[in-house]
Amino acid sequence: MRGQRRRVSFLFVVLLSLVLDTGVGAQAPAPAAVTAIRAGRLLDPEAGRILTNQIILVEGTRIREVGPAVAIPPGAQVIDLSGMTVMPGLVEAHNHLALTYKPVPENNVYYFTYVQESTALRAIQAASNGIQMLASGFTIVRDMGNNGNYADTALRQAIEQGWIPGPTIINSGIIIGGMGGQFFPTPEMAKDHNIVYPEYLDADTADEIVKAVRQNVLFGAKVIKICVDCKPYGYTVDEIRLVMREAAKAGMKVEGHVQTLNGARNAIEAGIWSIAHSGALTDEMHKLMAQKGVWRAGTETPPGLAGHPVSAEAYKRTVDGLKNAYENKVPLTFSTDADYWVEGKTRGELCLEFIKPWQDAGIPNADTLRAMTINGYKVSETENSRGPIKPGFFADLIAMPGNPLDDLEALKSVQFVMKNGQVFKRDGVMTPAAFFHAGPVNGWRIR
Ligand SMILES: [Zn+2]
Repeated sequence: MRGQRRRVSFLFVVLLSLVLDTGVGAQAPAPAAVTAIRAGRLLDPEAGRILTNQIILVEGTRIREVGPAVAIPPGAQVIDLSGMTVMPGLVEAHNHLALTYKPVPENNVYYFTYVQESTALRAIQAASNGIQMLASGFTIVRDMGNNGNYADTALRQAIEQGWIPGPTIINSGIIIGGMGGQFFPTPEMAKDHNIVYPEYLDADTADEIVKAVRQNVLFGAKVIKICVDCKPYGYTVDEIRLVMREAAKAGMKVEGHVQTLNGARNAIEAGIWSIAHSGALTDEMHKLMAQKGVWRAGTETPPGLAGHPVSAEAYKRTVDGLKNAYENKVPLTFSTDADYWVEGKTRGELCLEFIKPWQDAGIPNADTLRAMTINGYKVSETENSRGPIKPGFFADLIAMPGNPLDDLEALKSVQFVMKNGQVFKRDGVMTPAAFFHAGPVNGWRIR
């Protein structure tokens, strides 16, 4: 009885302190550290030009000043990148950080990965993949589903709360689709064992669609991803609009996985935010996408990745499609659909192999770099706070010896990475120690 009362009053105090979590007792914040970066060349992807001998002043997590004659305050830490090209961080607009299928034991069939690897294991893999992406200069990643039971949300929270280093994550939660998602399960596995969930969230009726969107919002998604046409029943224009309306209540946009011409037509007519995969995107669809401003996350796979062969014909279609999209002025993002392991490459190095189709499509380097930066910030909806190297923006920037405007291959030699004003990689070596904390230093309320 007494013990119970004590427990009740303890619970009351805990609840009260949760409600009143006002930060009382916290020390007054120390003045933010100032870092001055000497940039020999500063790439401005918006203008497609290089400025020389610039100084970037970073205060705390943000950029304070940029220019050729910025005064360096006494006591500022100076980082000398005068022999390098400094540019804003890269964006990968379609990845699956909590999925890595492999040649052994699953013969690159992700069905088996899903059965064999727990969400907990996949969340840890995601943490590692995120670090690998950041090391290659990707400061923002859109993580578009197939992440078990919300490992993508856990990854985003861990990075935002300050547990681990990683890119800014824009995650979709579970992919919403008609019955079965992208799986083709047996009746036993689907009906008796519910095997489709949590890799996909079945939503066939209007009520189910609304609930599915709400579930993803509740469990930490920042964008909604649907299978538009993974099954013959697919989604109609009205159903896609229903998803969009429900997502919009939470301020979210919708990406559609599209693999058929009819699916593409429906998604574009509905005015969807972005379309993933390029297989169904014809010249006519590209013209409609350009007209409506629908983002294209084409996920163009290059040839030559060990274990992931692309036939010459398929690659030609990929390159021709990308070229056609460019010529039609479709808004383009850089996207890979990376969800597998190629031996000898980090997830970041793997993603940078995907610049090849852009080179082969004859797209000017300046425009590919725009897709990898400016357009990436827009499709991720960070363009007013994160991305551009401008005063007031979060200090996310990278540097490399070469000049990617002359040769995109320079992107494969990123030597320096700063995220939120903290140095993550310097002289080609990761220095993540400053990112690791034994608690949610940025706040447990970040969900
Ligand atoms: Zn994908």
